[in-house]
Amino acid sequence: MDEKAGADRKGKESTPLKLIMTKNVYDFLNSVKPKGKEEERCGLLVGRKKENFFADEIFEIRNVKASVSEFELDPAESLKVFEYAERKEKEVIGVWHTHPFWKAYPSAKDLAGMKLFPGVWVIVSRDEMKAFVLEDDINEIEIVVKF
Ligand SMILES: [Zn+2]
Repeated sequence: MDEKAGADRKGKESTPLKLIMTKNVYDFLNSVKPKGKEEERCGLLVGRKKENFFADEIFEIRNVKASVSEFELDPAESLKVFEYAERKEKEVIGVWHTHPFWKAYPSAKDLAGMKLFPGVWVIVSRDEMKAFVLEDDINEIEIVVKF
């Protein structure tokens, strides 16, 4: 880690990183919006990361917690997605999951996960879809759908 980069950023306006997604990814995320009492659903976003995150593929992965209030990606299924991305010369750029009962904002457990996997985190609640990155703090970033 470059310590200077963090110090410099405070002086300037930080560059807004957007999450740009293709319509198929957007449609999928809309289709997983929780409708009632159900377990959290989760998965990975595949694409590229440059000045923005770009997602053009999305995968659902089994939630090994099978819980209405937390999730954990099945490790074997996740590995397959990482291998797939590598074969396609893409990257796993983020994690998505649903919040059947809460608003679309990272929980304390999500924050711990963001520290382990510092990509973009998309959270889908009953009525919202939001994207977050962890910098000094949890920052929401703009979602742009590319039609
Ligand atoms: Zn969560």
